[in-house]
Amino acid sequence: MLRPSLILTTMLSVALLTLPSRSFSARPVGFARAASVFGARPQSSIAAATLADVCDAPPATHPAFDLLKSETVAEYNVRTTTYRHTKSGAELLSIKADDDNKVFMVSFRTPPTRSDGVAHILEHSVLCGSKKYPTKEPFVELIKGSLNTFLNAFTYPDRTCYPVASLNTKDFKNLVNVYLDAVFHPRAKTDPMVHAQEGWHLEAEDVSDDLVYKGVVFNEMKGVYSQPDSLLNRESMRSLFPDNAYGVDSGGDPKDIVKLSFDEFAAFHTQNYDPSNAKIFFYGDDDEAERLSLLDSYLSEFSDSKSRPKSAVEYQKKTFAAPLRETHHYPSSDAEGSDAKPMLTVNWLLNDSQMSSYDSLALNVLDHLLLGTPSSVLHKELVESQLGEALTGGGLSDELLQATFSIGLKGVDESKLGDVEALIESTLAKVVAEGFDKSAIDASINTLEFSMREFNTGSFPKGLSLVLGCMSKWNYDQEPTSALRFEEDLAAVKAAVAKDGSKVFTDLLQKLIVDNNHKTTITMKPDPTLEAAELKEEKERLAAIKAGLSEEQMREVVEKTKLLKELQAKEDSPEAIATIPSLSLDDLETKVKEYPVSISSTAGITTATSSLPSTSGILYSSLAVDVSDVSLEDALLLPILTRLMQEAGTSLLSDVEMSRKVGTYTGGVSVGMSMLPVLPSKRESASVVRETDNMMTKIFLKGKATKDQTGALFSIFNEMLTDANLASQGKVVEMLKAKKAGLESGIQGSGHSYANTRLKSRYSVSGYLDEYFGGISSLDKVKAQLDMAENNWPAMEAKLESLRELILKETKCRDGMILNMVGDEATLEAAKAPLADFLDALPGSPKPSSRFPDFKATSHPWATAAKKAMSATPANEGFVVPTQVSYVGLGGRLYDVGEKTNGAASVVARHLRTGYLWDTVRVIGGAYGGFCMFAPGSGIFSYLSYRDPNFATTLDAYDAAADALLEQAEKLTDEQLATAIIGTIGDLDGAMTPDQKGNAAYMRWLTGETAEERQAFRDDVLATTKEDFIAFARRLKSRNPAFSTSVVSSKDGCKDAIAAGRAMDVIDVL
Ligand SMILES: [Zn+2]
Repeated sequence: MLRPSLILTTMLSVALLTLPSRSFSARPVGFARAASVFGARPQSSIAAATLADVCDAPPATHPAFDLLKSETVAEYNVRTTTYRHTKSGAELLSIKADDDNKVFMVSFRTPPTRSDGVAHILEHSVLCGSKKYPTKEPFVELIKGSLNTFLNAFTYPDRTCYPVASLNTKDFKNLVNVYLDAVFHPRAKTDPMVHAQEGWHLEAEDVSDDLVYKGVVFNEMKGVYSQPDSLLNRESMRSLFPDNAYGVDSGGDPKDIVKLSFDEFAAFHTQNYDPSNAKIFFYGDDDEAERLSLLDSYLSEFSDSKSRPKSAVEYQKKTFAAPLRETHHYPSSDAEGSDAKPMLTVNWLLNDSQMSSYDSLALNVLDHLLLGTPSSVLHKELVESQLGEALTGGGLSDELLQATFSIGLKGVDESKLGDVEALIESTLAKVVAEGFDKSAIDASINTLEFSMREFNTGSFPKGLSLVLGCMSKWNYDQEPTSALRFEEDLAAVKAAVAKDGSKVFTDLLQKLIVDNNHKTTITMKPDPTLEAAELKEEKERLAAIKAGLSEEQMREVVEKTKLLKELQAKEDSPEAIATIPSLSLDDLETKVKEYPVSISSTAGITTATSSLPSTSGILYSSLAVDVSDVSLEDALLLPILTRLMQEAGTSLLSDVEMSRKVGTYTGGVSVGMSMLPVLPSKRESASVVRETDNMMTKIFLKGKATKDQTGALFSIFNEMLTDANLASQGKVVEMLKAKKAGLESGIQGSGHSYANTRLKSRYSVSGYLDEYFGGISSLDKVKAQLDMAENNWPAMEAKLESLRELILKETKCRDGMILNMVGDEATLEAAKAPLADFLDALPGSPKPSSRFPDFKATSHPWATAAKKAMSATPANEGFVVPTQVSYVGLGGRLYDVGEKTNGAASVVARHLRTGYLWDTVRVIGGAYGGFCMFAPGSGIFSYLSYRDPNFATTLDAYDAAADALLEQAEKLTDEQLATAIIGTIGDLDGAMTPDQKGNAAYMRWLTGETAEERQAFRDDVLATTKEDFIAFARRLKSRNPAFSTSVVSSKDGCKDAIAAGRAMDVIDVL
């Protein structure tokens, strides 16, 4: 089934860690994550646009291409045309759509035969310079200065994809040119230094030094192999596929990566990166004839080498006579009190021949029935059993040639492992015997239908979602557009359900899962000695290699190390950089795009309305309820309260009934808490750094529905807000266990983000509160809450009840409510009557007798409490988790409160991130990511690294950054300046879906930022000068000595850094 965005059901490696862009957005805290539950309802009223605009001319033709087939796909309002480049054999899918967010992708089949990561290393390496674009990394030049809305690369288990997207036609063509030259003529094929840098190499500065392994992918995968969850996924996948490409890891096992030779690497390119093995995709409103001639200019030099048949993936046959059982180990902490526990998945290989599109859709409905929401039967049974802390496995995965189903629990007591497996089996057997409820089937079908029709890809380009979906067929030489059609199958599934009911799904469940012997059970157990053993093994291996080297060979290693560092540090010549096509400042849009919002008040409740040209008949709405009367201490319980509102049912509806109501009548409802920084009403300008103690704290109930179901949406809001069943001890225990497990794997796998939150907590009120609710320190708070929920439930329940009473206090609650409505005119009109009823029915008096303070004019009480708790002297801290890599943070106050910053600072920070830090921390240091962040509102600056083999030397690199920046600033060319400005503008202007436009307008109004201030920021960015660079560098240099460190690392990592002179407090986390 086509998924609206990149949902990682398939193991995937990506070239670049994507970063959040600029400030001012509602920051969810605690449990308030975006609900992954899309709900749904009878769909007829999601309006489809017309095809007229798209198909007014016949498909383009070109003498070098055979036109194979052209058709319209009504489901997505597009025309698709497939071509074959006659001479080279390349295939093209060209989609014409009324969408300015244009997408290009080239994809090659690259099934690996070993876990040496060759496909993944090549994915990184082809972006490191090519025939026409001979810079070290054209990819980075594009990151520095293009308007792309997407730029990255993915390695799947059997394919490698290179997608780009842009709203600007000239920019788009530039991106396409660079990517096409990169894949067909990469420098990496002839220059072994690229394989050394991106893959692996042995390093030593001196013949007397110990050898170490370095390489970007090597370290990236060390990070992956440090994470228990990803180890479990990898073992689960491998176990099902003993005989084909899916049994090895295309990302690469660090132990095998170091076996990959340059010659094997280059041969893999020759074998697979050939036009005859390429699938090329265009999408958008650009000219189709130009697509063809541009492609021909790259393809015409190649002749069809017929490499495609060789790259085909063979089916893994379902050969198991009996289910397989394996136990593996993951590295856990050896700290005292560590409570690492085993985890387990049960996995099935579902098909060993092509599945029909009907079966595939029915299977997706079955997956949703089993696991789609917390009230789905398998999800519910497993979580409520309390046998483990959180679900794992993810259910159905169907993006590859063969589909799998995988489910299990983590955080399981050793003695309960058998019970988990037995429960999964008995639950599935029970479903086969008893069937699914009709209401469950309706809710699941409607949920999937809403999601397919709305196809809300958020900030992910729509065309990219379409092509990634097509690849799940096209990669196996099936009709690519078959993945885009769903009407016929959907009607067939509905007809089958009308006739046979639940049997449609239980037959499938029995055949593909319950009676299927090609099944594995994978257990992963914690081993506190494993990390040390692996490090020791690596050290010994390196020592043995060194012992085997002659002095002459060792000198060669030292020479190569030196040479590589020189190459990496060498700047590209201006001539080389000039080959990368770029925009000029004249190509940039100078005005900020504004979206209208109108504010009114009804029944004492403020209402914000965004009327948009079309939202396909869908209403997007949210109700905000103020929580500023809750004390900061009690506020820790708000995430629990909001989760219960969303999931626990009410006095009239059980949790299951409520979930089905949401699924049947809406497109999904979520409840969460947000702390939203707002601008002080008395201010000189938005660019003056502030204390960040002006903020709004609200519970948000958010949902969407088609226009004839807005009444149902509003009644669900009211029921959840006022009548949620808070007497749900089991649910609270489950959610706290899952939150604890999520925090633990988050700190271990995304340490950079936790390190940054911790850094900011030392310098600003909003930073302190972010850490308080969701940072490293919140782990202890969650453990304490779990203890309370398990051992003193009545007290917790009473607290939750009193919280609800407090926020719904009759005398003032309506004063703090804000309703947001986003829709097209007809939808908003249809919602009018249900809305009036809803507002009348809400609790509280329409004429509030007391009011909430205006937090734009006065400090928020949580801010006052936070200030008292904040320490005057920021500490240097190292947080210890089991890991082989580090996440190194350094930062502090770059601007004091009251000082003025401007948009130029963001341009310089971006230049530092994509220039010096990329080169020093990633390219030379071998970390997967190295970057910096600057928040203009709070004046706080931080350096961060991601999956970093270094610790102290990364801090040294940060300390040297200001000088390096100053040196660059003093000789900054006009071209470099323009590049940095263009890149910053690109960050500001993304493509937006209708609901995002409405939401942006609402958020801008909530925060109090004016259109003039937004324009002033943009004007500052556009007017950035060389002097701004110099001033920023000098300021950074003067502030750097007062910065503090915050690092997530291993025990040894911290020890080594302290030995290198970096004093810090060391704190055991896991
Ligand atoms: Zn990678």
